[in-house]
Amino acid sequence: MTRFVRPLLASVALCGLLSPPAHAELDVARLKQTIEASFESEYPKLDALYKDIHAHPEVAYQEVKTAAKLAAEMRAIGFEVTEHVGKTGLVAIYRNGDGPTIMVRTELDALPMEEKTGLPYASRDKQIWQGRETFVAHSCGHDIHMASWVGTAKTLVGIKDQWHGTLMFIAQPAEEEVTGAKAMIDDGLFTRFPKPDAGFALHDGSGAYGSVTYRVGVGSSNVDGLFIRFVGRGGHGAIPQATIDPVMMASRFVVDVQSVISRKRTRPNSASSLSARSTPAPPATSFPTRPG
Ligand SMILES: [Zn+2]
Repeated sequence: MTRFVRPLLASVALCGLLSPPAHAELDVARLKQTIEASFESEYPKLDALYKDIHAHPEVAYQEVKTAAKLAAEMRAIGFEVTEHVGKTGLVAIYRNGDGPTIMVRTELDALPMEEKTGLPYASRDKQIWQGRETFVAHSCGHDIHMASWVGTAKTLVGIKDQWHGTLMFIAQPAEEEVTGAKAMIDDGLFTRFPKPDAGFALHDGSGAYGSVTYRVGVGSSNVDGLFIRFVGRGGHGAIPQATIDPVMMASRFVVDVQSVISRKRTRPNSASSLSARSTPAPPATSFPTRPG
């Protein structure tokens, strides 16, 4: 988890919160030292929080205990927390004078699948999902994101004399079902609460260990589901030419549609994208296609 808290913290602290006068006097080396010290002292607690969340995952819109844990953490840090935004979502606000409003986001939900890692803190929890009981697991890394989110909040509040502005930490439900962000927006995320000037989020990924890649704008693709019915026409096996085979039709359709996507020229992302090792970021089209 260590490699996630640091970049999120550094991004928010350096890119967003430092007001122009403070920025002019910014002592990056000292700030880094302060962040490192805070991180080291908080790490055991953050690690325990991560393991607790990992062991007790909850699927979309059932993240009740998870949200309550985060709400308690954020209140203890000094944030003003509003629960049940977009069903199970959270908005935590920390005001620290005039300055930009910076949003930092985590997800809350887990996946309906069995964990087979054998870890001492592996999930054995079950929930009802789509009408059936299923094991639940944090297989997408949202447990890491949540612990990093709390660690970022804690450290930023610890160095509040070095920045001015408003922190808007949000915890989004149902990221795996994609609908959670819209649920929060429909519930007044940007009308009931300050409208952010910038937003940060992180996601664990398939990059090399020890490297961090960042991107402005869209960072990964999304998945939508759709049902298409192919209607064929039955007939005698001796005269297949008189039938319409829906399996062939559907197979051809998949290949055709995929060809359109893979052969379509995409505009390169104009936004900057760097990694900690200065390796070039992959083009937008090469990002993994699974959700979140
Ligand atoms: Zn995810």
